[in-house]
Amino acid sequence: MMPPLLPPVNGQLRLVVFDWDGTLMDSPRRIIHCLQRAAVEIGAPVRDEAALRNIIGLGVQAAVRELYPDADDHFVERFATAYRACYLEAEDAPETPLFAGVAALLDWLEAREVLLAVATSKSRRGLDQALEATGLGGYFVATATGDEHASKPNPSMLEYVMARAGVEPVRTRMVGDSVYDLEMARHAGVPAVGVTHGVHPPQRLESAGALALLPDLDALLEAFRQAEGDN
Ligand SMILES: [Mg+2]
Repeated sequence: MMPPLLPPVNGQLRLVVFDWDGTLMDSPRRIIHCLQRAAVEIGAPVRDEAALRNIIGLGVQAAVRELYPDADDHFVERFATAYRACYLEAEDAPETPLFAGVAALLDWLEAREVLLAVATSKSRRGLDQALEATGLGGYFVATATGDEHASKPNPSMLEYVMARAGVEPVRTRMVGDSVYDLEMARHAGVPAVGVTHGVHPPQRLESAGALALLPDLDALLEAFRQAEGDN
C-alpha cells in the first residue's frame, strides 16, 4: 500500500523537502535563456528548449556533460561560469516569480509543526540570493545546494537535510518537478510528490515513481488538507 501523502495528526510527517527551481520558483525560462546564452558566449552549439528542459534539475556541471558529451573539464567550467553569471546578473533575462500558493503552503505546513527544507541544484550563492529576494529563508531548517553536494539523483543533499532536521526518511516527503528529484528521493528511501508546473511532463514523473502528481502548489496544499482530514 502506498504511504499516505500527509498523516499529520499522528505525527508521522515531520519534514517536507522542496526542490527550488520549477517547484517553488518559476525559473525554468530564465534557466533556458541562460543555458542558451552561455553556449553562444563560449562558442558552443546552442541546444533547443526541449533538450534543455530534459536536463534541468541536474547540477550545472552534470547538465553540461549531458548536453555536450565530448566536453572536457575546461569546457564545463567555462560554460558553468557563463551560465551562472547570466542567471545571477543578467537584467534582460526572464524574471523568476514564485509560483502562486507558495506562502499558503509553507504557512500551512509550518502551523502543523512540519519542518521544511530545500534541496536544490542551484549554487549556494544562487539559493541565498533567491531566499533573500523572496523572503522565504526563515521557513527552512536546512538547505542543500548543488555546489556543496553530488548532483541529483545522488541522495547526498536529501540525506544531508534529513540529518540536519533529525528526521528519518519514512517521516519525510520530497516535492519536486523533475525526474532527478524523484530518483534522488528513491535513492534516499523518501516518498516523493511530483508537481507538473515545472520542467518535466506528468508521464516522466509518474514513471520515475512519484507517490502523487499535482498540477500546482494550490493542488498540493489541497491534497495535504484532504490527507489530514482522512486521519
Ligand atoms: Mg526543479
